[in-house]
Amino acid sequence: MNERGCEFCRDRGWIVDLVTNRARRCSCYQARVRSRRRDALGIPPKYADCRLSNFRLAGDVSDQLLEARRNCDRYIEDFLERDGSLRETGLVFVGPSGRGKTHLAVAVLCELVEQYGVWGRFVDFTSLVAEIQATFQQGVELSQADLLRPLQEADVLVVDELGARRPTPFVSDTLYLLINSRYMARRPTLFTSNYYLNTGEDGADIPADRMLAGRVPASLVSRLHQMAKPISIDAVGDYRHELQAYQHR
Ligand SMILES: [Zn+2]
Repeated sequence: MNERGCEFCRDRGWIVDLVTNRARRCSCYQARVRSRRRDALGIPPKYADCRLSNFRLAGDVSDQLLEARRNCDRYIEDFLERDGSLRETGLVFVGPSGRGKTHLAVAVLCELVEQYGVWGRFVDFTSLVAEIQATFQQGVELSQADLLRPLQEADVLVVDELGARRPTPFVSDTLYLLINSRYMARRPTLFTSNYYLNTGEDGADIPADRMLAGRVPASLVSRLHQMAKPISIDAVGDYRHELQAYQHR
């Protein structure tokens, strides 16, 4: 395909096979389906080009960042089970802002769309909370079911910045229903969060105000433990490199 479109089918997606005299899919069709799936992801423009291949690993990066990227590679590699089913568990990237959590989550989502043709969605937690909140108001056009269905049904969902905003009790219940329904349906979800699920592995004390449990319902935190593998991106020393990398994008 070039800028003027496909030279074989003129973007109709079908060509007539001269031997059988029947229409068949043009070779550009799959590429177009994938690009439509990418467009439907809902990834904000500033993250649209995030891939593992352009994840900043230049210079003096920590082992932790390398390990995070390796974990993503492995996750993508092992996404399709031997029996053809999709992987059930997700990932949760944890660490302060600006470390590349969203970059990695978007990169994994895009790779899964490109390699396996899955349907995916990206949602920012703060917007999601506001949108759910709005469905409780009278006279809104979008019902809660309409809002949540695509998020429940996506093969892979990214929830960015989990805990960035404290939801009201009603919204909390709805969020739990959404995440729990994905868990029950065995659909993987990728999360990013500035807040920790656990206290440090090495017993390091994490202040109470950095814990996810104070930001979202406890039921949701315990579900997260069952449905997503934590990947920490919080080592001191990465921050400046990552800032530079962002500026260079
Ligand atoms: Zn074509």
